[in-house]
Amino acid sequence: MKIPFFKPEIDSKTIAQVGQVIKNGWLTTGPKTLEFETNFAQYVNATHAIMVNSGTAALHLALEAIDIKPGDEVITTPFTFAATTEVIEYMGAKPIFVDIRKDTLNINEKLIEAQITSKTRAIIPVHFSGIPCEMKEILKIARKHKLYVIEDAAHCTPAYYNGKPVGSIGHITCFSFYANKCITTAEGGMLTTQSKKIADKVKLLRLHGMSRDAINRYKSAKWEYDISVKGFKYNPTDIAACLGIMQLKKADLFLKKRTRIASNYMNSFSKEKNITSLSIPNKCISSWYIYPIRIKHDKPGLRNQLIDYLFQQGISTSVHFKPVHLHSYYKNKYGYKALDFPVAYYEYQKIITLPVYPSLKNNEIDYISRKIKKFLAGV
Ligand SMILES: *Cc1c(COP(=O)(O)O)cnc(C)c1O
Repeated sequence: MKIPFFKPEIDSKTIAQVGQVIKNGWLTTGPKTLEFETNFAQYVNATHAIMVNSGTAALHLALEAIDIKPGDEVITTPFTFAATTEVIEYMGAKPIFVDIRKDTLNINEKLIEAQITSKTRAIIPVHFSGIPCEMKEILKIARKHKLYVIEDAAHCTPAYYNGKPVGSIGHITCFSFYANKCITTAEGGMLTTQSKKIADKVKLLRLHGMSRDAINRYKSAKWEYDISVKGFKYNPTDIAACLGIMQLKKADLFLKKRTRIASNYMNSFSKEKNITSLSIPNKCISSWYIYPIRIKHDKPGLRNQLIDYLFQQGISTSVHFKPVHLHSYYKNKYGYKALDFPVAYYEYQKIITLPVYPSLKNNEIDYISRKIKKFLAGV
């Protein structure tokens, strides 16, 4: 059996629609982008949705929109992808890490307040694997200290917290449609907000700070425009937006399929004392972007041996994430030690990410869990 880590699900209707966009001749940001933004805003119950060409660009523009300055501090989790923290670096600001909870591997909201200083401007909670963070507590802390909350919701199309879709909760929410995310536009991202002021600023910043974008200049003979701010080249293509429109129609179905896969994994590991799954708080619905398990062991290197063994059995897995503070750039710049964030460090030693995608079959899930149990029985 050969099981890849991820398989995007793109149907023939989607391919035909994308082909149509290419034939029509308006390839870059245009009507399809507008349509996807409208549909997405409605889907996550947000007032404004602005598409950009990556999730990283969405995070960067979020920090630009709230005017983060060099020397400011932004609180986030070390248990994330590099994108979350590199955008803080772009601004010349300093990422301040807060350790994670063991049950969800999300930022531990109880440890946030102790890290707030006079320089703190924002908190970036990352909804790891698609489980929303404790947003009620995080927003309460933010209100008390007058901070912005920018959610890294790269894993969350869709996820729900207390019945509310992620995208309608914090000040700004950033989604990713990278090739292996819950829905994909090959490359792409979306920023949602309830603030018109932030939305207008992000729209301006995503295309060079130009007062009129390409489609509006094209519609009339008026060519003139002004550059009023230092902008960026983050606008999406209509090709990607068209993929997004078609993928979004299936997001609920994908969620249903991912949830079934997760519950199959959960059942098959429920009696295993040395395998722990994540636990989903009652008030949350996870997107199940990925299915991470933790292997209880005291042999260094055992997790990597398991990854190699599974690969030999035809199963591709991954690790989400190597904590940011362990990467050399951050270690060298800020002098972090592995045990500065002990939960992140220890969980990272034990974690392995199993395949989750809509077309993953029950017999494949059985095969994966059987091989994991077999390996662990033999050590
Ligand atoms: C994928 C991802 C991003 C970045 O998204 P891109 O679209 O690849 O730029 C940001 N944060 C997290 C947690 C991610 O997993």
